[in-house]
Amino acid sequence: MSSGTLFSQILFSTGFESGSLGEATITDSVLFSAKRGDTTLYLSYQINSRFDPFNPIDTTLRPSARWYYFKMVGVKDKMVYLNIKNSEAIRPFFSYDGENFSRFTSSENPEKGLLVKRYERDTVYISHYIPYTWSRHKMKLDEWSLKPFVHREEIGKSTNGLPIEMITITDSEHSDINKKRIWIHGRSHPSEQPASWHLEALTDYILSERPEAVDLRKNSIIYIVPFINPDGVYGGYSRSSSTGVNIEINWDKPDSLTMPEIAALKFKMKELMDEKPFDLVLNMHSQIANSVTYWIHNAESTTERFLQKQLLLSALTMDDRRFYREADQSFSAVASRYVEGWIWDKYKEETLAITFETPYTYYKENPNEEWVSIENLAELAEDSFFAIYDFLMIQGSYRFILEPERLKGRGWSERDDSSRTFFGESYFVDERENGRVVFKHDNLNKGVYKIYNYKSNRWEYMGRAIQRRDGRFVWRSNSSQFNGEVDAILLVKEEN
Ligand SMILES: [Zn+2]
Repeated sequence: MSSGTLFSQILFSTGFESGSLGEATITDSVLFSAKRGDTTLYLSYQINSRFDPFNPIDTTLRPSARWYYFKMVGVKDKMVYLNIKNSEAIRPFFSYDGENFSRFTSSENPEKGLLVKRYERDTVYISHYIPYTWSRHKMKLDEWSLKPFVHREEIGKSTNGLPIEMITITDSEHSDINKKRIWIHGRSHPSEQPASWHLEALTDYILSERPEAVDLRKNSIIYIVPFINPDGVYGGYSRSSSTGVNIEINWDKPDSLTMPEIAALKFKMKELMDEKPFDLVLNMHSQIANSVTYWIHNAESTTERFLQKQLLLSALTMDDRRFYREADQSFSAVASRYVEGWIWDKYKEETLAITFETPYTYYKENPNEEWVSIENLAELAEDSFFAIYDFLMIQGSYRFILEPERLKGRGWSERDDSSRTFFGESYFVDERENGRVVFKHDNLNKGVYKIYNYKSNRWEYMGRAIQRRDGRFVWRSNSSQFNGEVDAILLVKEEN
């Protein structure tokens, strides 16, 4: 065994989209022979991830260095120890081609910050999460724009002159008058790759030929700005634009301090909100906590009713609790420096604006279950799709919500207190538990429908209803079937 710094070293580089590295310093190299003629070079490096530029507007903010994405050449058959500083290294990713990424195993990431691996090929890319790059963004925009119900436009330019692009999705054969209005944007924080994988899958779902997607497009207009900070993504920054400014908290600044990205968003949003306020605004992020969450604005800073609406959207997103549970919800006060506060100040309860966070690591604080992947982010995106759909009570032909048409009996009382989430303005409790409830639909297509009851913050399966011919549908039930508490039911048509 011999040691020294004579051995061939590794070449580090970041000359590609979203590439980022502060410094790589060799700390040790050892040639180890297990037996004659079989030697392995052990190389140790300290990797300092790169800090964003100093924030000239919020001078108390410490720049972030979360994101790293670099290439190493000359690694084949060497044992490489990487000690990552300034950022997390919780089973990050490697790729031999810059396209297909795999997580380091837990044995390759045996302790905080340390990556130990013998590589099979000479070139390898290392990244905090699977990069979602500017090129990917453009490729998907090109693909989405080919659909007949997509309109693509540039709403402004970044500091460095990259276009900030928006797609508008709606079925224009249906009148816009009663359509719900949804705004979604993402990636103000460039390091937050999972948020983009989730939003891409959600957009794909909205543009799919699934019957619920067709119905959503007939009944809503969806505005999506996938990259609000293109410079930050392109340049491989963590939480800022190329200027060092965290544009997430730039919404309450005077014009002289407003970044061009935020000015462009404000202009477009205001133009659209002047026509009619959005029903829903989703601000897509990723967080370092090992869970999915919404940042729910507390009642003290908004209203009890607004809190209830946010809790309803949140509960609907949980679906079967595979990725997201009640315990993961986060609460904070609404603040004007964020887009949510900027909207609250103008529209109060009329628009539900909220941040959604996906994790980088695993779900529900449970490392023994699934780790976050492109595939399960796409499954979570389906939960997000149905949460949006049901929250807005989209009256599609395959999936729709009915509230009681009539209540019979003398035990019923109307409630709107916060002991549960509910649709509309109230729910009903039958204290005598002997009342009856009637649901009605004026023109329901022939078919078999599964019926779910909204109870305990989730959809509970109740049974099937058969509609023998197109036309009026009436469904009668006893309050005991609802355990004396009725809010709304969901009907989902079975596929033929
Ligand atoms: Zn963020």
